[in-house]
Amino acid sequence: MFDLKKNIKAETVDKAIKHLAENPDAKLIAGGTDVLIKLRQGKSEYCELVDIHDIDELKFIRIDDDKSIVIGSGMVFSKIIESDIIKKHIPMLCEAAESLGGPQVRNMATIGGNICNGVTSADSASSLFTLNAILILKGEDGTREIPISDFYLGPGRVDLKKCEVLTAFKITHDNYQGYFGHYYKYAMRDAMDIATIGCAVCLKTKNGILKDYRIAYGVAGPVPMRCRETEKTVINKKVSKDLLDEIAKTVEKDVNPRTSWRASREFRINIIKELSKRATKKALKRAGEKF
Ligand SMILES: Cc1cc2nc3c(=O)[nH]c(=O)nc-3n(C[C@H](O)[C@H](O)[C@H](O)COP(=O)(O)OP(=O)(O)OC[C@H]3O[C@@H](n4cnc5c(N)ncnc54)[C@H](O)[C@@H]3O)c2cc1C
Repeated sequence: MFDLKKNIKAETVDKAIKHLAENPDAKLIAGGTDVLIKLRQGKSEYCELVDIHDIDELKFIRIDDDKSIVIGSGMVFSKIIESDIIKKHIPMLCEAAESLGGPQVRNMATIGGNICNGVTSADSASSLFTLNAILILKGEDGTREIPISDFYLGPGRVDLKKCEVLTAFKITHDNYQGYFGHYYKYAMRDAMDIATIGCAVCLKTKNGILKDYRIAYGVAGPVPMRCRETEKTVINKKVSKDLLDEIAKTVEKDVNPRTSWRASREFRINIIKELSKRATKKALKRAGEKF
């Protein structure tokens, strides 16, 4: 069924890096929910694999001394949903995780694989964009850190150097403390469907004023994206129904969705505008704003 030539099991991240160096054609497999589909489709680039699924050092969620939340890349979505740290501090990531696939997929699929596959529909991506998540990557030359917004290079392409493993995501204290968010996925059906549009909003308010505002989308362009013009336009404005309308109007200028068999560009733009309002409204309610 699978044209698999090699499957090397790595016990540690360092061993995974070594196996990748010794087998230049090999690719990583974590949960395999994307890789095995490609392999089944006969895609030859996945016929040599280095399996990182059982590496314990990639499976953790912790709060560091500097209060950063650090999520191991090997965390599967069902564990992210159950995590008290995520539930308490960044519930929008639980919402993203809950919206992904069905229970079997969530038991296998990792957050690392969701980001490294480079697709615009990745449900965890928009929330991580609004949280200014930093990716920690380990390779032959040591460890480097890169903001998630710089990681996506194009459809299906990410900034992973040769022999590198994404080990964790870091969300610094200043990027989640005092923020309220929401992830809203619009799909053609409620379960087991890829997002037609995914929208994450993360915001901070003070005395009825929007002090910080971050909005990101999946499937609104070739890669997940933040809407920087909208964000700049609405910061420091008074929370109101008119502000929601302004966000919906402005956001159209930031996005560039395409027509596909799933939905037309025009339909996606309508959904993008509507989700901006719904996700912002929910986040504002969580922030205790009444309007
Ligand atoms: C039935 C079904 C439904 C699905 N529904 C959804 C959905 O609703 N939303 C959604 O976003 N996705 C969905 N997916 C896609 C998939 O489940 C996710 O993208 C998942 O998070 C991928 O994680 P994985 O661990 O299975 O990755 P894998 O398939 O193991 O790997 C994916 C890619 O990432 C690379 N990679 C994996 N881990 C690392 C790492 N630590 N460092 C560097 N590279 C790495 C691999 O080499 C590969 O290129 C669905 C898939 C299936 C089969």
